[in-house]
Amino acid sequence: MKKYLLPKTGFFYKANMHCHTTLSDGKLTPQEIKEHYKNKGYSVVAFTDHDIFIPHPELKDDNFLPLNGFEVEINQENTENIHAAKTCHICFVALNENITEQPMWNPEYLFGNAPKNAKLVKYNANEPFFKRPYGSQTISKMMHIGKQKGFFVTYNHPVWSLENYGDYINYTGMDAVEILNYSCARIGLTDSVTVYDDLLRAGNKIYALATDDCHTEPDIGGGFIVIKAEALTYSAVASALKNGNFYASSGPEIKELYFENNTLYYKCSEALSVTFTTDVRWADAHTAKTDLVTEGHFEVPDCCNYFRLTVTDSHGKQAHSNAYFTKDL
Ligand SMILES: [Zn+2]
Ligand SMILES: [Zn+2]
Repeated sequence: MKKYLLPKTGFFYKANMHCHTTLSDGKLTPQEIKEHYKNKGYSVVAFTDHDIFIPHPELKDDNFLPLNGFEVEINQENTENIHAAKTCHICFVALNENITEQPMWNPEYLFGNAPKNAKLVKYNANEPFFKRPYGSQTISKMMHIGKQKGFFVTYNHPVWSLENYGDYINYTGMDAVEILNYSCARIGLTDSVTVYDDLLRAGNKIYALATDDCHTEPDIGGGFIVIKAEALTYSAVASALKNGNFYASSGPEIKELYFENNTLYYKCSEALSVTFTTDVRWADAHTAKTDLVTEGHFEVPDCCNYFRLTVTDSHGKQAHSNAYFTKDL
């Protein structure tokens, strides 16, 4: 039976899942962010200012959906050289627009313009301020709390954070990892899809994100996801995120993806190559000869637990599907 990996019905919506505004340390106001992204054909932006969870329902219109979120950082204390201290950044994006409380509030961690805007944040005043000593225990705990409170939890820019395999392999509770964070990549701190495979091979069923993490205008438009959802409503987009109905990209499009008779079928925008990656030493590629690649299929072998697709265009830009586990198909 044909199983659609990107839903057969619905619409594609371009989304940036990570950005900062003048409410914390960004240079653009929420309204300016909306205008820039709308002009570039985006329909969805998740507003993820540092620690201050401030929903932006006022930005919603027929063609634009703001998602409500915030980013936290868990910093290693290293007084000798602050630039050598490891850190872990996590975005929490609410999967329901009725969620209004920041569940791990502690004003001691605010910086930039965030202290000035702390009064706009709702939190449970009966709970003690949430302390965050750096380490996998704190990080996993925060990821689990976020998930339990109804947020989509993303592990951000491991390279910029100076985190490596020995760190992130111990984190549990994330929904997705950034394989491209454009604001980090454009200054040379470039993440890679290898981290995604490391986490998948360890048994984490998670998704891949490309984001801008925009703080200034030049950060806009380098990394995005394309969500396939029934409508541009908070609930439809949140459900698509939760179910992994999206792909990550810096340019190319994945137009269709389905699985039938142990075979993965795809359609994509014009590509120089399309590669097929698994958790084991089984991989394959379709490479352009006279014509660029726009469709094809790969056999999915019994020896793999998951597979994923990468589309590379003639500018070297890539689209990455999420990973699909054969047991779920
Ligand atoms: Zn960050
Ligand atoms: Zn950020």
